[in-house]
Amino acid sequence: MRYVNFYLCAVIAILVIACENPEEIVPEEVKFPGVDAELKEYFQRFEDEAATRGINVDLAAIGITGVILEIDETHVLGRCSFPRAQPNRVTVDQTFWNRGSDLFREFVVFHELGHCFLLRSHLEDQLPNGACSSIMRSGNGTCLDNYSSRTRNFYVDELFESKPRFVVNR
Ligand SMILES: [Zn+2]
Repeated sequence: MRYVNFYLCAVIAILVIACENPEEIVPEEVKFPGVDAELKEYFQRFEDEAATRGINVDLAAIGITGVILEIDETHVLGRCSFPRAQPNRVTVDQTFWNRGSDLFREFVVFHELGHCFLLRSHLEDQLPNGACSSIMRSGNGTCLDNYSSRTRNFYVDELFESKPRFVVNR
């Protein structure tokens, strides 16, 4: 019996030790404070896409927030605000969000983080086929959106190309 008790104690001790060493990966739901639950997945994707390009992005450390709200202006799907003395904030239009595909939602969130995190301005350049050269297009220019699963990599590469400059200057 003493053996059994000792064995149980050993098992419990190991479990306690195991519990004291949780994985370092912070779950999305607690990782981005001030970001609406549905946006967190896209914030995480932004960080992941940066990481695959060798760029370390930590949106939570900078405190960028994100909300889904009705934006009254027509044709405005998202916006980045720069409140004074507060971290930048992404707003995505609720009506668009309800209807938008996963890829289109990603496009809008990445565009707004392009403003809010990468501090990029709009770029209206066109590719030879008339498609926008960047997801940082304003939507008011003449280039055509062409963000799809086939072109996504090209556009995400372009999005982060200017990142190292901003990392140094921040
Ligand atoms: Zn914009």
